[in-house]
Amino acid sequence: MSESYLKAAGQTPEELLQRAAEVILPEQNGSDHPLIFGEKNGLCVGVDLGTAYTVLVVLDRTGIPLTGEFRFTQVVRDGLVVDFIGAVDILRSIKRNVESRLGRELTHAASGFPPGVPRAEVQSTAYVVEAAGMDCTEMIDEPSAANNVLGIRDGVIVDIGGGTTGIAVLEDGKVVHTADEATGGTHLSLVIAGASNISFEAAETLKKDPAEQSRLFPIVRPVMEKMGTIIERNIRGARTKSITLVGGTSIFPGIDKVIQETTGCPTRIAPSPLFVTPVGIAMQDRNKISLN
Ligand code: ATP
Repeated sequence: MSESYLKAAGQTPEELLQRAAEVILPEQNGSDHPLIFGEKNGLCVGVDLGTAYTVLVVLDRTGIPLTGEFRFTQVVRDGLVVDFIGAVDILRSIKRNVESRLGRELTHAASGFPPGVPRAEVQSTAYVVEAAGMDCTEMIDEPSAANNVLGIRDGVIVDIGGGTTGIAVLEDGKVVHTADEATGGTHLSLVIAGASNISFEAAETLKKDPAEQSRLFPIVRPVMEKMGTIIERNIRGARTKSITLVGGTSIFPGIDKVIQETTGCPTRIAPSPLFVTPVGIAMQDRNKISLN
């Protein structure tokens, strides 16, 4: 499914994700950068409600990212919506900005959920999308969404987000094992805050500053090693153990080396790792539409 999708788009995962990183913007005034957009039909929309970021992505019907927006939010914890009203308000505001850039209304979207989240909680994410004014066409588990983009047949996708490290083992292009454990980017920020005696918010900012990351590396390394231990334990039975890292925390330079050393498995970082899952969720919206 994902391979033919990528052929239809005429893009490699690298090209697709490069484009995603160019057009998915942090919070913007929607009237900036209006897009000239001629197509009447076939937008695919993905909403990713994460522990750290809410992301909305719009693809054209061939799968090319057109625009999107992401914001640092604290409305979801490990796949559970903990602030329903806040989540709806933020998503509505992002939707408005993106619509004014597109010059079109967004009427539907797919969304995602971490593996292992109870059905009722998955449903509450769908309700957020609906309450923000979009039909929720489909809910997809996050590793399958990531693999819509990456098209891995045999291997391991590790999603290191804000709250958790999610592991998905793939065989013949299908997810055969998942795990999601509570160690993510938030824990990196917490150790930086503790070591530097600063607030969590200041530590978040510091952690993402490329000029600071090599100085901070020894401080956060033990957390990365813990992530590696979690991964190693969960992929012991996997047929192919090559690891691809996605999720925002994978941006921290050197994390791939630590995971590789701890697990003993070849490890690479996906291009634009923050956007792999959101783009894959939007692709699922396209899949749904093409079936109708
Ligand atoms: P989860 O998947 O746990 O629900 P999420 O979907 O919000 O969380 P992502 O959006 O994949 O997770 O990643 C968010 C994390 O990535 C945050 O902890 C954030 O601080 C971290 N992050 C984002 N950009 C960078 C960067 N440049 N360097 C290091 N960490 C980063």
